[in-house]
Amino acid sequence: MDFNNFKLGILGGGQLGKMLCQAASKWNLNTSVLDPSYECPSAFVATNFYHGDFNNYDDVYKFGNNVDLLTIEIEHVNTDALFKLTELGLDVRPTPQILSLIKDKGEQKKFYKSKKLPTCDFEIYKDKNEILKAIELKKLGLPFVQKLCKGGYDGKGVLVVKNESDLKELLDGESLVEKLVDIQKEISVVAAQNKKGEIKCFPPVEMVFNSKANLVELLLCPADLNENLWKRAINLAEETISSLGLYGILAVEMFLDQSNEILINEVAPRPHNSGHHTIEASYTSQYEQCLRALLDLPLGNTDIKTPSVMVNILGHPDYMGEAVYEGLEDCMSISGANFHIYGKKETKPYRKMGHVTVVDKELSSAREKAMLIKNSLKVVSNE
Ligand code: ADP
Repeated sequence: MDFNNFKLGILGGGQLGKMLCQAASKWNLNTSVLDPSYECPSAFVATNFYHGDFNNYDDVYKFGNNVDLLTIEIEHVNTDALFKLTELGLDVRPTPQILSLIKDKGEQKKFYKSKKLPTCDFEIYKDKNEILKAIELKKLGLPFVQKLCKGGYDGKGVLVVKNESDLKELLDGESLVEKLVDIQKEISVVAAQNKKGEIKCFPPVEMVFNSKANLVELLLCPADLNENLWKRAINLAEETISSLGLYGILAVEMFLDQSNEILINEVAPRPHNSGHHTIEASYTSQYEQCLRALLDLPLGNTDIKTPSVMVNILGHPDYMGEAVYEGLEDCMSISGANFHIYGKKETKPYRKMGHVTVVDKELSSAREKAMLIKNSLKVVSNE
């Protein structure tokens, strides 16, 4: 592998792309990023920035012609162009086949079922009228979770229907309707696979959600799981990446239900929010592991050096406009807190503006510090 001349292309210039470029820069790899915003988080970190739309066929096709390997930091990209580039011999990871499967939550579910990977029961409906009809005919009962098959992210496009009055909110479009799982814990395992047949997983992490925004609020590593569940979670992540035949990294989000069953919720074929802590807390970060897997290099050690808690820095719900970080300086006096500011110019309600990883010998004290930061650091705007 020629580190000096290799060109890695990344579709999307958000924070995941930025941190992937930072890892690549450690090895002096040349990175190119395609994004519609000149001011996206990766624009000043990538070796080359290309202005364009990753959903546009021509933009993706042209971009792909300038790189040696093409990857993504967001799933919603133009897969037609990726199919064409693959046909012409470009190494695209994840493959457009895998991306198409994952982009559609219904297809993703069918895949788990076909591979006998545990996931909650589901049905697919054409639109909301079909859902209402199924309820009327008593083929579908409440409660359930409706998810748009395409286009959802960060809890958008997901509706929990608990009672009749929630039916007013039904989302329109082809949907996956799932059984409402009585969740004990939400966990995630980031797995990596290279073409040499190596698979490695990071230790499971526990995600604590903000119920209002439906966004991960705290992420604890290691997850509090007994030995059997720990092994089960890792095995499932390994089986999933291997069944998908994905070379790169895959975050596998799972539910632990009240009867101690682990169910796969969904996967992301790229670096993930649930792996941010690995930058400071692990021997290898998920970003470096992603590069190792993409380039078929030996996979790195996934052990943790220390417990950690990650907190997302979200845009304050009442502000929109140029971002101002209130309380940041005070929070910097907290020992073990590592700050990542993504550099998004505009704040919006609940927008992911940055994250903080607190490392500490004790998980409980890392958690206390992370909560203190969560409550003291505010992203507001003077506009
Ligand atoms: P997104 O892709 O937008 O993140 P998810 O499928 O992860 O959507 O759903 C967001 C959140 O909604 C989950 O993390 C979980 O808290 C809740 N949720 C999703 N599916 C179910 C389900 N079947 N039962 C109970 N809660 C669910």
